[in-house]
Amino acid sequence: MSTDTRPSLVAMMGGTFDPVHHGHLRTALELRDRLHPDRLHLIPCHRPVHRDRPSISAQQRLRMVELAIEGESGLLADDRELRSDRPSYSVDTLGSLRAELGPDCALAMVIGTDALLGLQSWHRWEELLQLAHIVVVRRPGWVLSPDHPLADWVVCHQLSDPADLRRRPAGGVLWQEFTPLAISATQIREVIARGGSPRYLIPDSVWRFIREQGLYVTSHD
Ligand code: ATP
Repeated sequence: MSTDTRPSLVAMMGGTFDPVHHGHLRTALELRDRLHPDRLHLIPCHRPVHRDRPSISAQQRLRMVELAIEGESGLLADDRELRSDRPSYSVDTLGSLRAELGPDCALAMVIGTDALLGLQSWHRWEELLQLAHIVVVRRPGWVLSPDHPLADWVVCHQLSDPADLRRRPAGGVLWQEFTPLAISATQIREVIARGGSPRYLIPDSVWRFIREQGLYVTSHD
């Protein structure tokens, strides 16, 4: 029996989580149960102060992630991007995880199709695959068309099997299909601003927190 307790695969999912919803959470859970990473870090990103909604702080977004995953093993609310006062780039966040994990552990960044389509606008995006694999989760309403500038790049790095993630520390793109949920944080903010209920789109614990704190009652989109 191996006594090696070093992680073999760690996954991370970044996002604004404004607020976290069942689209994020179902993705996280199904990914955990299918790919079996040692842990999946949910990492709320910084928003530049001038773009933050006046009524909601980064700490409140983090708190909602903590409430949403309470009691779920393997899921972790990670505040590393919020510890500095300026926005972090994903390439830096992956660099910080890589520094903690060492060179041999497989690391996977999870993104939805919408995020993949804009990947080329990310800071130093070509370096992402040197640090991690990318797991692309199909998101209803978004497709990578064959004439998209990233289509060939994706094919070139594509992995065919989840087991490939553990064969090397970084460098592959894996598509995953989970229960499709056409939920967005934008939709939830709009529902609340209209005085409606976002119940069954977000966990009850998150909805309770939103009401206690009086969040999203006016729309700033
Ligand atoms: P907004 O509507 O404010 O733009 P969002 O719902 O897209 O927010 P983000 O926090 O921006 O949520 O998303 C974080 C990550 O989760 C992104 O990679 C995004 O593609 C993915 N994601 C968001 N919603 C879903 C969903 N319903 N299904 C699968 N992936 C999702």
